[in-house]
Amino acid sequence: MITRFAPSPTGPLHLGHAYSALLASDMAREEGGALLLRIEDIDQSRSRPEWERQIEDDLHWLGINWPTPVLRQSDRIPAYRSALELLWERGLLYPCTCTRRDIYEAASAPQEGARTGPDGVIYPGTCRGKARTGPLPDGAMRLDMSRALNGLESIEFQDTGAQNPGNHNVSAISMLETVGDIVVARRDFGTSYHLSVVVDDAFQNITHVVRGADLFEATQIHVLLQTLLGYPTPVYHHHRLIRDENGRRLAKRDDARALSLYRREGLTPQNIRALVGL
Ligand code: GLU
Ligand code: ZN
Repeated sequence: MITRFAPSPTGPLHLGHAYSALLASDMAREEGGALLLRIEDIDQSRSRPEWERQIEDDLHWLGINWPTPVLRQSDRIPAYRSALELLWERGLLYPCTCTRRDIYEAASAPQEGARTGPDGVIYPGTCRGKARTGPLPDGAMRLDMSRALNGLESIEFQDTGAQNPGNHNVSAISMLETVGDIVVARRDFGTSYHLSVVVDDAFQNITHVVRGADLFEATQIHVLLQTLLGYPTPVYHHHRLIRDENGRRLAKRDDARALSLYRREGLTPQNIRALVGL
């Protein structure tokens, strides 16, 4: 059993991250497995080495350990490019030059606005007719969902979390309608969150993905990419989200709940466990 904790070093860890990391670490310990740390820093404009150090320091304080060296996504750009090339050569990708605004306007029905899915606004297909020949171009690329799903009736995965327990079977038709042509490479990064996570989970031999229920809807995308790239599908464990007193889930902006502040106030790791219900 190999699991991972995969924070983005764009801010401090808060209670929600602490819960996720402690849960993954506890599960690895119970199963005699390993927890890996992966730094998800493809967004170099928002990632900071200081945050990375703070994250590692907070995790160690919580009693969590991991093998080194730690995988950093900013070192993995060539691996993402190879995966894109594989999909490109099969005619499954096309370049997209739309702005956010173009997409929103083309996707909007009068009075209703645009429908969104786990990758944002469901893409209206404006660039689908662009040439798919020659070497993989730079710039934003989308997955042609209809071609990607060709020959697949559904994608399947197992979730061991309490929120969405059991086997999940998402039909190709549903993915076409509710997800659409996702971005696999952003113009500024040459990759996307979905693609990087899938390539790295396979590279690190992750057998169990433990993460928040906010990513449950993204999982169908990840499983499809695994299928297309010939990777195994891990077991998923989407856990409940830690909420503030108003019932809102914690986000990076909730610096008031940064673990480092609790530490400074004198709380112990045991107190943190109690706070998150572990
Ligand atoms: N890096 C993502 C985050 O900070 C988590 C990615 C994942 O667990 O798949 O929310
Ligand atoms: Zn486009």
